[in-house]
Amino acid sequence: MQEHKVEWLNQSVRRSDGPILEATRQLALASSEPCQSVDWNGQTWYYGTGIRPADHPMRDEMRVLEYAMDHADCLFCEGKDVLVVALQGVVSPQSGDAYYDYEVKCNTCGKYSAVSYSED
Ligand SMILES: [Zn+2]
Repeated sequence: MQEHKVEWLNQSVRRSDGPILEATRQLALASSEPCQSVDWNGQTWYYGTGIRPADHPMRDEMRVLEYAMDHADCLFCEGKDVLVVALQGVVSPQSGDAYYDYEVKCNTCGKYSAVSYSED
């Protein structure tokens, strides 16, 4: 696969001309469904050709993800016309801390943006 330069905008936010997260590269690009889930590398990942942030099934499972989905946008053109191509989120049963990663593809400029979050 062609390598795309990934630019970190801060500790938790990346953008690139091409797919960023391993889940996007290995799962989403091979998928033909908008959003499906799989247990992968010890995490439950949602991946696919893309689903609107407002429709993502995990937004109802975690409050921080509901907020994140409401604010998901393209880190190049700042457009809101994005599709979520990969996402995992979990709340630690021990600490109650929330963690998530997601990646969106922009329908306007075609580029990728990824956000990683850890509450601890
Ligand atoms: Zn864009």
